[in-house]
Amino acid sequence: MHRLLILLAIVLAGLSGTGPASGAQDWVVVKADGRDYLTMDNIAEFYGLSAVKRNDREASATSGVRNIRTTAGSPDFFINNLKFILSYPAIERDGKVCISRLDLVKLVEPVMRPSRIKNAEPIDTVVLDAGHGGHDSGAMSIYGPERAFALDVVMRAKALLQATGLKVVLTRGDDTFISLEDRTRIANQYKRGIFIAVHFNAGGYGTGVESYTLAPRGVPSMMADGPAVSDFNDCRGNARDAENIALATATHAALVVKTRMFDRGLKRARFVVIRDITIPGVLIEGGFQTNPYDAKLIATAGYRQLLAQAILQAVQNYRRAVGNEQQLPTVVHTDESGKREPEKTAKRETPAPVKPSPGVKPAPVAPPSGN
Ligand SMILES: [Zn+2]
Repeated sequence: MHRLLILLAIVLAGLSGTGPASGAQDWVVVKADGRDYLTMDNIAEFYGLSAVKRNDREASATSGVRNIRTTAGSPDFFINNLKFILSYPAIERDGKVCISRLDLVKLVEPVMRPSRIKNAEPIDTVVLDAGHGGHDSGAMSIYGPERAFALDVVMRAKALLQATGLKVVLTRGDDTFISLEDRTRIANQYKRGIFIAVHFNAGGYGTGVESYTLAPRGVPSMMADGPAVSDFNDCRGNARDAENIALATATHAALVVKTRMFDRGLKRARFVVIRDITIPGVLIEGGFQTNPYDAKLIATAGYRQLLAQAILQAVQNYRRAVGNEQQLPTVVHTDESGKREPEKTAKRETPAPVKPSPGVKPAPVAPPSGN
């Protein structure tokens, strides 16, 4: 068994109002494929990180527990070792690794500085949405249907959340079919709520966990969303873009840390349940029913309890992220055994071992550039 050490630092809040660190910021805009791109060097400087380190096509920058990393030609972008999927792959121009302006504004900025989210409503309610139900079984494994496992996770999460004093609403509390429209209607009754949908994946031998948040206007969906919704349609949920990414980040981080499953990344989609809600929302895929390793785990109460704990952690992370707390919570998770690592998967990526350095506060960063 190899030793796996994961440090996942979720830097939340507390960065605004501390004044500029490095004075004026000159952004160098690189044009490619009709889009604006910005260099990792610029981005690292803006967020008060170290000078960019290069390793072939990879570019990374660090400051204390904060770090960013991407590779030219890849859509994977890591923030504090958590994987995000860029709308457009990183590129290399004139020897510099760059990401699109859209990804900087809609992804990196709200994740790096969630406390700057304007008008984030304090929340008192969590709407939990167990996918499928009744005649709609969802993905099947030899152990049972997605509809049953999703409901079980939601019931477990409900108990954990209620114990902290939060109000919990279920779109379904038993094995009945609820339309997607009814699910969003229920969610929209709770103005001070957040919405978390629970699903399990299907598709070959794919493995691991992923989270979906609503694609902002102009941002391509990474999934077939049923009836085509143009990237340029304004969906109801887009009023909550910044909160959506903050919630999805908090949720995906908790999911990866708690389950120790392969991190498939945080992705964008326009699924009905996250598209037509007026409160912040996220959809999690807690593993693959079609993968023998994942399916066996999903069928255990212990794993489903971990998913429920991840949901509780997600809610707590989110509340902290959009609040005004000056603390910088760090989630450190050490796995000495690596026993939850799937044995056989086509392609595995494990966060590179890093030394935990809790308590290191990031340098203050310059104020936003107004984009
Ligand atoms: Zn599903």
